[in-house]
Amino acid sequence: MEMELKWVGFDFGQCMMDPTGLRSYLVVGDVSKAMGEPELVEERVHRYRVLKEKYGTYSAVKEGHRDEIMRYVFDGKEEAPELFSIKEQEHLLMGSGLEEALCYLRDEGLHLAVVAELKKTLGAMGTDIVTRFLQTKGLTQYFEEVVTPQGRIDLRNGSIDLSYKGKTKEEGTLYDKLAQSLRDRGIEPSEGTMIGDKIATDIVPAKKRGFKVIQYTGYVDMGSCEADCRIENFLRLKEIIKKKV
Ligand SMILES: [Mg+2]
Repeated sequence: MEMELKWVGFDFGQCMMDPTGLRSYLVVGDVSKAMGEPELVEERVHRYRVLKEKYGTYSAVKEGHRDEIMRYVFDGKEEAPELFSIKEQEHLLMGSGLEEALCYLRDEGLHLAVVAELKKTLGAMGTDIVTRFLQTKGLTQYFEEVVTPQGRIDLRNGSIDLSYKGKTKEEGTLYDKLAQSLRDRGIEPSEGTMIGDKIATDIVPAKKRGFKVIQYTGYVDMGSCEADCRIENFLRLKEIIKKKV
């Protein structure tokens, strides 16, 4: 299948970002060692597990209770928040073939965006997990924008458009807004595709708004669905997507 497009939106978690290497105990260990306290690793890994029991999953702890991680796990050490973000990033990988595919799409002249779920309020560039990932991996150059339920970040000047606030992928309101803003730029949703792993947030609601949809199965295969095609490696995008002129 071949698609002629003008815009491509990439999901972040378990898509562009591959969390395979991310093990919470490794991050806690790295941070403790970096603070010169290797003898506290075991105790801190234990405390981190206590927080996981309290909130259900490590992602829930990280998304909503970062302050508590710093206070309870890392004894409120001043350098802990920054070190935690750095060490966390070091364990995150890129999906296979991502950079080569981005390079191709940009050179073809397509408009590229990250369309991500993000629960934490946006701050300056590099203070949230998505823009920090883009910066650490050298991917910022390929994208024009990061669209999230916390706002839209213009990557060329770092400005944040808060009219996206509260719009979500699952409810589809984020895609409504996105479709509107693309139309304002002369791009129809059918000239764009969303790429993601989750059927309920990346595939179904985007397709309903007229976007093409590509299911990414490189990290986890959520099963067959109404996606226009399925890819396991981002390099496949070089065969599938052409610039619409
Ligand atoms: Mg995802």
